[in-house]
Amino acid sequence: MIETKFAIHIHTNYSDGNASHHDLAKIASQAGLDGIITTDHNIWVEGIEGYYGEGKKKTMVLVGEEIHDRTLEPPGNHMLVVNAQKEMLPFSQEPQRLIDQINRSGGLSFIAHPVEDALEMFGEKDFSWRNWDIEQFTGIELWNQLSEFKSVTTDLFSAAINAVFPKRMSLGPLDRTLALWDELISTRGKPVVAVGGVDAHRLIKGFGLIKIKLYPYLHHFRSVTTHILLPTPLTGKFIDDRNKVIDALRKGHCFVAYDLPSPTEGFLFSAHNNDGTFIMGDQIRMTGGLTLQIRLPHREQCRLLKDGKAIKEWSDRDVCTYTTTEPGVYRVEVLIPYKGKMRGWIFSNPIYAWR
Ligand SMILES: [Zn+2]
Ligand SMILES: [Zn+2]
Repeated sequence: MIETKFAIHIHTNYSDGNASHHDLAKIASQAGLDGIITTDHNIWVEGIEGYYGEGKKKTMVLVGEEIHDRTLEPPGNHMLVVNAQKEMLPFSQEPQRLIDQINRSGGLSFIAHPVEDALEMFGEKDFSWRNWDIEQFTGIELWNQLSEFKSVTTDLFSAAINAVFPKRMSLGPLDRTLALWDELISTRGKPVVAVGGVDAHRLIKGFGLIKIKLYPYLHHFRSVTTHILLPTPLTGKFIDDRNKVIDALRKGHCFVAYDLPSPTEGFLFSAHNNDGTFIMGDQIRMTGGLTLQIRLPHREQCRLLKDGKAIKEWSDRDVCTYTTTEPGVYRVEVLIPYKGKMRGWIFSNPIYAWR
């Protein structure tokens, strides 16, 4: 498996960001990313995808879109559209039709910040997803640092602290988002792929005379990323490589990582049975025994969850194994101590062992 690192859900100066795709590719390269997926609000920017930079600094820039329904108050139902290769705004008011159109175009659909709180002092509304009567979407954005900021900030003082010391703020996806995801994956009978989104805007928020600058792109690109596992290395041919990345994302061959405390490269969650070897995102028909294997980049605290419930916890281990005959949806969370607190470090996509 070839591991690649992407930042997903980024706004450029085509919407409310303040950097060009070109600038962002440079920042991504500085952050050691293989690629980024930009998603401007209700605009698909055509003709800008490709590789930027040269040699080792080459960065893949994929251009998606963040669709929302402007007729709702506040404008809600934010959907990250990836690789649809056409404008999806006409479908913004009908979530299921939007999803169907994305699927028809070979694209992927991720529900952005599915659970949010408002932050009224900054005029920030609650942009949670509203219409859950939907099916056939690809997945959800599990961790969004902007949502986290909105949820953990209680007053102007904590806003300033969280803005100035972002490393002290981030703890992981919201518990409510994790619970929602667990419910989706264990009751729908089909995969729901989790990705880490950064929702990078390079925002400046005003509060009277006080201006608070929220996290520059470089901070975001070094923080919450999505590591995507490819079957073969990238070739440098853009279309081939894009298809490979999209295919891996569609299958959930990826994990959500917080790379700031320590690099997460090398993490693997796999399953082994008589039919072969499988990795996170894969679906298996349960026949007889199954051995789950977790490989960590280094010794940390790790837990295995089945259908949303922790069934085994290890501390100070870098290889963990678990044998089972029970069908279920298995996923892994890894925690790491950083800045005086235990924080979410790695959230794997599940292995789906169906009955
Ligand atoms: Zn949004
Ligand atoms: Zn956004």
